[in-house]
Amino acid sequence: MTNRTLSQLVTYWRNLLQLHDWNFLVKVVSEDELPEGAETCCSAQLDAKTATLFFGANHDDEARKAQVIHECLHVACTDLRESLLRSTRGYLPHGVRNTLKCELLHQEEMLVLRLERAFMEVTQ
Ligand SMILES: [Zn+2]
Repeated sequence: MTNRTLSQLVTYWRNLLQLHDWNFLVKVVSEDELPEGAETCCSAQLDAKTATLFFGANHDDEARKAQVIHECLHVACTDLRESLLRSTRGYLPHGVRNTLKCELLHQEEMLVLRLERAFMEVTQ
């Protein structure tokens, strides 16, 4: 998949998920630039409404499509996750907030994986 096709696929899913107020940046990087064991990752800044999606090189088109859906779904979860974490600032001790954040990220990952599989199934 060319970088242009990848960007078009990200735009397609951004629009489908109604993330119109987010700016997406797409970067294809070498595997060693990603977190250990990850094929992709994303960095989303809620205040700037900017998400940078990082994709490891050398994946077939079907895997790439699943990765795009997956990372766009994480962006879709950003408002919920960050709003919840911000609402606890000053009310919960730092350690409790860290535990809450870890649990939120874990549950988000499980939800994103389920939705990714469902979207892949219905778009075959
Ligand atoms: Zn994920």
